[in-house]
Amino acid sequence: MSKGTLFDKVWDLHTVGTLPSGQTQLLIGLHLIHEVTSPQAFAMLRERGLKVLFPERTIATVDHIVPTTNQARPFVDTLAEEMMQALERNCQENGITFYNIGSGSQGIVHVIAPEQGLTQPGMTIACGDSHTSTHGAFGAIAFGIGTSQVRDVLASQTLALSKLKVRKIEVNGTLKPGVYAKDVILHIIRTLGVKGGVGYAYEYAGTTFEQMNMEERMTVCNMSIEGGARCGYINPDRVTYEYLKGRDFAPKGEDWERAVVWWESIKSDADAEYDDVVVFDAADIPPTVTWGITPGQGIGINQFIPAPEQLPPDDRQIAEEAYSYMDLAPGKPICGTKVDVCFIGSCTNGRISDLREAAKVAKGRHVAQGVKAFVVPGSERVKQQAEAEGLDKIFTAAGFEWREPGCSMCLAMNPDKLEGRQLSASSSNRNFKGRQGSASGRTLLMSPAMVAAAAVKGEVIDVRELL
Ligand code: SF4
Repeated sequence: MSKGTLFDKVWDLHTVGTLPSGQTQLLIGLHLIHEVTSPQAFAMLRERGLKVLFPERTIATVDHIVPTTNQARPFVDTLAEEMMQALERNCQENGITFYNIGSGSQGIVHVIAPEQGLTQPGMTIACGDSHTSTHGAFGAIAFGIGTSQVRDVLASQTLALSKLKVRKIEVNGTLKPGVYAKDVILHIIRTLGVKGGVGYAYEYAGTTFEQMNMEERMTVCNMSIEGGARCGYINPDRVTYEYLKGRDFAPKGEDWERAVVWWESIKSDADAEYDDVVVFDAADIPPTVTWGITPGQGIGINQFIPAPEQLPPDDRQIAEEAYSYMDLAPGKPICGTKVDVCFIGSCTNGRISDLREAAKVAKGRHVAQGVKAFVVPGSERVKQQAEAEGLDKIFTAAGFEWREPGCSMCLAMNPDKLEGRQLSASSSNRNFKGRQGSASGRTLLMSPAMVAAAAVKGEVIDVRELL
């Protein structure tokens, strides 16, 4: 069992007690809610005559269903409008802060909480969305939860959870030019497998993560769940504190000084014991792209789609399924694969630094004929910042559409959907069958810079050729 790790310390500090099931009742410091997984939870609360116990520890935004073009109310999609109204009503009735469209702070739940300083080291955080692991970038322990657990947190501010093992994933060295945080996490998942992290929290350590900025760290932690880990985190350090200082909800004055002392104390000890340790060399990580139907089916940009006999026996069946669904043949290069749609956005890669990297590639070039390319900022603040820097102009001059903030084609619960067999180059986090709105649509995951490169070439290419 892990000992002396940040996970261990934060878990113990938030333990309320042990339940008859043997699970821990864990206090949740911050609960983030959105329109998709909360309406039923509030309904369950009402049925039982319960109230939200700590409304001040619950923050709401709207992200999954928002249109990214016409946001006029009522929404054209009546189901989306109903969800929106339910969230507005539930927040109002329960005194919950809601960052609605036009508030200046709306956006994807995992983008807005860090940018406002709500996400802080040593916290426990829960949200009814799988990619809540994002918040671990700050040294928080953050869990994606289901609707009945959203109900539990609303009613009791606690969750019943079984303690996880901790795997330290160490990556050392400087990434090569054209290799980004997204490539690092795709490489890790590809190596350890999509189920490799089941039962674990992932602690990311080593000089590569130390050199990353907070947004890059968020990209890595965001996809921990795609590697099977329930959460992922990075110990807080100077980079974390510099990012947090001065943000809306960050401690101020003497509280700040006290907070830093506490944050330093919850870091994993130098002699911490881990349940497992895996070490990577940053120099071995290439720009990485998925070819299949799980985020673990990835390859280096200049590699060939693996043949079944090159894969472990357990991976062969899903590979066969992927060749046929994706219409990509084993033994062929992924470079040169024609793309129809290019999507830059999501809670993985919809932050300002992602847009800056993609804009560097798009600048002075033009989207290839027949390709639909669009950029969806992760939040209203990201959009505002990008426009202040003129990134929107770079994108639109290059033929990209510049949209309003939201989840958009990450999950396609709004009007942004693939059509038929379209193939998308996407900076999001899941390439499951039908994920982007068409039951037969296909997705290749990659970094935002690689998506921009695919957009201007009309096919998957090595972004380094354009840098
Ligand atoms: S961007 Fe995608 S993964 Fe992130 S919160 Fe929205 S739907 Fe979920």
